[in-house]
Amino acid sequence: MNRRRISKAIQIGKVTIGGNAPIVVQSMTKTDTHDVMSTIQQIEELEGCGCELVRVAVPDAEAALAIRAIKKGISIPIIADIHFDYRLALAALEAGADGLRLNPGNIGEAEKVEVVAKAARERNVPIRIGVNAGSLPRTTSPQLTIAQQMVAAALEQIRLLENLDFDLIKVSLKAFDVPTTIEAYQDIAQRIPYPLHIGITEAGTPRTGIIRSTVGISTLLYLGIGDTVRVSLTAHPREEVIAAYEILKSLNLRQHGPILVSCPSCGRAEVDIIKLAGEVEERLVKINKPIKVAVMGCVVNGPGEAKDADIGIACGKGRAVLFKKGKQIGVVEEKDFVSVLMAEVERF
Ligand code: SF4
Repeated sequence: MNRRRISKAIQIGKVTIGGNAPIVVQSMTKTDTHDVMSTIQQIEELEGCGCELVRVAVPDAEAALAIRAIKKGISIPIIADIHFDYRLALAALEAGADGLRLNPGNIGEAEKVEVVAKAARERNVPIRIGVNAGSLPRTTSPQLTIAQQMVAAALEQIRLLENLDFDLIKVSLKAFDVPTTIEAYQDIAQRIPYPLHIGITEAGTPRTGIIRSTVGISTLLYLGIGDTVRVSLTAHPREEVIAAYEILKSLNLRQHGPILVSCPSCGRAEVDIIKLAGEVEERLVKINKPIKVAVMGCVVNGPGEAKDADIGIACGKGRAVLFKKGKQIGVVEEKDFVSVLMAEVERF
């Protein structure tokens, strides 16, 4: 794995982004921002899964104002998503937004950009410049690839802020197409010092979207690129957070909650391992410690993996052998597989 690109660290509320800080997991609410109670509820749920930064849509002045009340009910920093209207950016800052997501080029005259940059700087609030392949400005250089156009668009937006002496910047360059996204991030990573927010845009429903996101995000992380991560899914945002952590855990970049090792099952299995692993997975969602748990379907290949885990079970006909840190600690009856395994996990 490549050494991580060290970017300029910025602070969004209490969360450090970039530098040597851990890669941060981000999501976005799917509630109506005007509905303060539902938005707080959803953010609380996201916090419960480990979400560290949350973005909310700010389509109008009322939504910007709602940020003040939402902030009172949550503990993680909130980023206001603004398009076109600089007054909404100012209102969101006034309401206490910890970050802005806005493209200065979209808000018109230079004076408006200047007012926003000044207000953000006074409050130490960073701005994320987010370029999406689907909404690129018309190019005067059609020979450029989409990735190159994305980079050019981002550099243009960055320059607008830098010219105002504003450098609390984070950048994202998202496309649905994974190779385009990777190419764009690889290019811009060498050109700017700012932290990068990575993800695959409009990745789809969980079945395909998690795979598409994982391919793109993990390739970039493996290349050392990325300071914050969002898995964009057409689903409840909790799924985005869970998927982001699974990617980071798979690359040993973050520890977060349990890791479940389970065999795929085959003709040797003498228990319904698919059902058993599903039940264990459900129960593990509530466990908040980094622990490796193995659920294996037979006594031929099972013990090896089960021994390697912190707590493992290798099932045979009607009974299973229970392992803790590589040592066999008991034999369990089939009716007690889940309860005994989980009791050991709780005790660990
Ligand atoms: Fe099959 Fe046993 Fe391997 Fe599971 S552990 S896939 S049951 S051989």
